[in-house]
Amino acid sequence: MKTITIIGGGASGMIAAITAAQESGNHIILLERQARVGRKLLSTGNGRCNLTNLNVCRESYHGSYADFVLPSLEKFGVNDTLDFFRNLGLITVAEPDGRVYPLSNHASSVVDVLRFALERDNIELRAGQSVSSLKRRGGRFIVGTDEGEISCDFVIVACGGAAGANLGGVADGYRLLEMCGHSRTRLYPSLVQVKTDPVYPRALKGVKADAAVSLLAGKHILARNRGEVLFTDYGLSGPAIFEVSRCVSTSGGGLTVNLDLLADFSEDELTTIIARRSVTAPQLPANQLLTGALHNRLGQMVCKYAGISGGGSVGQLTPDEIRAVARAAKNFTLDVCGVAGFDCAQVTAGGISTAEFDPETMESCLVPGLFACGEVLDVDGDCGGFNLQWAWSSGHLAGGLGK
Ligand SMILES: Cc1cc2nc3c(=O)[nH]c(=O)nc-3n(C[C@H](O)[C@H](O)[C@H](O)COP(=O)(O)OP(=O)(O)OC[C@H]3O[C@@H](n4cnc5c(N)ncnc54)[C@H](O)[C@@H]3O)c2cc1C
Repeated sequence: MKTITIIGGGASGMIAAITAAQESGNHIILLERQARVGRKLLSTGNGRCNLTNLNVCRESYHGSYADFVLPSLEKFGVNDTLDFFRNLGLITVAEPDGRVYPLSNHASSVVDVLRFALERDNIELRAGQSVSSLKRRGGRFIVGTDEGEISCDFVIVACGGAAGANLGGVADGYRLLEMCGHSRTRLYPSLVQVKTDPVYPRALKGVKADAAVSLLAGKHILARNRGEVLFTDYGLSGPAIFEVSRCVSTSGGGLTVNLDLLADFSEDELTTIIARRSVTAPQLPANQLLTGALHNRLGQMVCKYAGISGGGSVGQLTPDEIRAVARAAKNFTLDVCGVAGFDCAQVTAGGISTAEFDPETMESCLVPGLFACGEVLDVDGDCGGFNLQWAWSSGHLAGGLGK
């Protein structure tokens, strides 16, 4: 009988435990510091749990050595993940953009099927037990918990990252692996809100828009995305902003974010469209020029940004002023002040150095018998189910204990 201690009952720890338990000769102790397993999972995907994405590929992942993900995605990819969950009784649906959710639309369905699968004779679940130390002694691992020591043959560190602190994100996994000689890269919040000069966003708080987002350092474009942007009192949120937030986090100061709020039209086309208003409704206040093209408050704010106040009427605007409004709608640019912290982030960029782990097995190259999986490693994915896919793929591999 081999004893395997898994530290962390989140996404990667639970799949690692279920996989390791398939060997009847394994005794698995799954330690979770929170009162229940899968607490963060319950909040994923706005409570719907976007558990994977049909378009997973190498380019969806980042880290110092992003190719590290390839063997685990090959060995346990999206189809294997869907089969795994189908076998546990979970029915899923894929949205047109490839995001996969439980049919129930409730993250609790994902957590429930995992919880039920953990109910096996060879899995001992100890919730509410936190691990504070990890060392080798006499050829075995000694796991120090707040309720005493556990001696075991193998350890899988599945403690997650520092993101989502209010949902249990902690730095414990980094510390435990550092105790075993592993090194860590710098940590950054990713998939997180971006703080900007708040003047315009604050006045637009709660307004959503479809925009082509470009993150710029001077004139150089660092990242682009297209999708929903939400204006908030500190800056910008929403999926399209989350996608460029990693780059904000890691690129230092002096950045601007440019929103093209009418990306399907050229500046000339837009100028022609809005110029018609000076013929069809010349009596309207000038700051209504974009009414019908954008959310009313946003349209008025873009006019203000272009230097047009509500004072005059549309009919009084000069051709240059109309063009300036079209240009502002396509270049609504805000100075970036940084990102919100780890509390608000969905994932941690950076982590334990993947150069020190075997990508074929997730086993430590420094300490045989020690495995790590999930967000604790220096791997982070894009928004859209990619981070959970990494947790499932790497957790499944780690649970195989090198086989
Ligand atoms: C709000 C939010 C929404 C998200 N939505 C999505 C989404 O829809 N799709 C997606 O792909 N990704 C999403 N993510 C990211 C995804 O949830 C994580 O990347 C993923 O859960 C990481 O899995 P993990 O197993 O590495 O860590 P976790 O799932 O965080 O699990 C780690 C577990 O280890 C436990 N632990 C930590 N330290 C100790 C210790 N010392 N002793 C014992 N136990 C310990 C923690 O309590 C936790 O339960 C979201 C994240 C957040 C915060």
